Amino acid sequence: MRLLVVEDEVVMAESLRDGLENEGFAIDVASDGEEALWYASEADYDAIILDLMLPKLNGFKVCRTLRERDDWTPILMLTAKDGHLDEAEGLDTGADDYLTKPFAFVVLLARVRSLLRRKGTTKPVRLDAGDLVLDPVTHEVRRGDASIDVTPREFAILEYLLTHRGEAVSKQTLLEHVWDFDFDGGPNIVEVYVGSLRKKIDAPFDRSAIVTVRGAGYMLDPSGG
Ligand code: CA
Repeated sequence: MRLLVVEDEVVMAESLRDGLENEGFAIDVASDGEEALWYASEADYDAIILDLMLPKLNGFKVCRTLRERDDWTPILMLTAKDGHLDEAEGLDTGADDYLTKPFAFVVLLARVRSLLRRKGTTKPVRLDAGDLVLDPVTHEVRRGDASIDVTPREFAILEYLLTHRGEAVSKQTLLEHVWDFDFDGGPNIVEVYVGSLRKKIDAPFDRSAIVTVRGAGYMLDPSGG
């Protein structure tokens, strides 16, 4: 899957590049609207993440120009919380989805995957460890036949741990993958969420899928605990 990220803020652009490359996407970054149009005419992207406020041509104009060129690459538009342009306007110009800054990376990732799914080009795989199952499509978590209610943040943590099952994952890594770019709290928040996750997926079943690895973080037992 090849994505074009159009973002003029360097730190944000690099965070997106790193995060998405970690998820296995190939990423090109354009830093203004004209460059975005050039990239889009040179390569066939699976989706475009398009910032609204850009030098030269803003995101709406880029979007409209692409559609006028009969380019229907799925577009996720990013905009600021206090933006004076509203969601309806974004969708009117042909964007497929819309995300307000600041956002959690995990939310962006979910939106991107959703866009790619709509195009019918990718199918996220169901993750499992023993009888512990997480379905990224339906957002369900199950232990055997029992359905488990988790919050979006808990879901994201579990998804990350399952993706890396059998490996020690540090609190810092979880922070980077599951929390906002702008989150400035400490890694203790991770302990809180892992604690509540254990109460849902492990304790009621007398299991211990999430293992604490001293000095390293957490590991999801591939057998499901
Ligand atoms: Ca911008």
